[in-house]
Amino acid sequence: MSQIQKVAVIGAGTMGNGIAQVFAQHGHDVTLVDVKLDYLERGVAAIEKSLGRLQKKEVLTEDQAKEILSRVQPTTNVSDVASVDLVVEAILEQRNLKRDLFKQLDELTGPEAILASNTSSISLTDIAAATQRPDRVIGMHFFNPVPVMKLVEVIRGQDTSDATTDTIIEKAEALGKIPVAANDFPGFVSNRVLMPLINEAIFALMEGVATRDGIDDIMKLGMGHPMGPLTLADFIGLDVCLAIMEVLQRELGDPKYRPCPLLRRYVAAGHLGRKSGRGFYDYSG
Ligand code: NAD
Repeated sequence: MSQIQKVAVIGAGTMGNGIAQVFAQHGHDVTLVDVKLDYLERGVAAIEKSLGRLQKKEVLTEDQAKEILSRVQPTTNVSDVASVDLVVEAILEQRNLKRDLFKQLDELTGPEAILASNTSSISLTDIAAATQRPDRVIGMHFFNPVPVMKLVEVIRGQDTSDATTDTIIEKAEALGKIPVAANDFPGFVSNRVLMPLINEAIFALMEGVATRDGIDDIMKLGMGHPMGPLTLADFIGLDVCLAIMEVLQRELGDPKYRPCPLLRRYVAAGHLGRKSGRGFYDYSG
């Protein structure tokens, strides 16, 4: 089984910065890549804020937090991943972007490196086919917020090897996570089940079945969900939710997966949830 020391995380957004933090907290040097300096700065600031919370709770000392942060090397140059043992990709949920990036990563990294994707719904087999190493491509699907959520959904593509799977399962456990296997079908388990629920909640809002708060309260109080589906959608990002519904609709071909027009309207308006300051709720304050 290959040893993983150096890690690269591609994409410093909602998920990427959390994934980088967790690897750095567990002693790894992390190269954090994004396309713009602004996005990297925002990602590093999010890590700093999260480490600050752990300091307040006395989980970390100030020195430990500083050391963890110093292990994260932000860069806009994807060639800086050349010497890493593992890449975790967390860019936008778009098939062609991911395939283009994996082709590039395949050329840039050493032949032994494992290329993992944090995709929510896209076929790992399809992503792996853009590389010459489909045996070393795998889904390593973290949950939001990454430093808090225990689950890592592990998805093998058609040709992912046992050795790659074992390495990723072992690494997830070493990060304090609980890996659970799912097969390579659209949305895997998590988003095959969760996203239609969120989409249906948005239909309920559009049709006036209840108010925004009413829908969230009913699902919280009645089903014991820790947050309502509209709050959760804002937390995930409405663009991410739409991209996942489009994968389910396209790949499974069943009209029950059609994205709600109100979801499309919010995304078109740039109301993407927490990350843009406004979604079903207002976060400007
Ligand atoms: P995000 O929009 O918050 O961040 C994506 C980041 O990737 C942006 O900063 C963007 O600039 C960067 N990026 C885009 N193309 C790039 C490229 N070619 N090279 C480097 N960086 C690039 O998105 P997110 O919510 O963090 O989602 C990232 C991935 O994680 C998606 O595949 C998504 O489906 C998945 N995911 C999201 C959640 C969630 O709750 N948001 C949960 C699990 C998995």
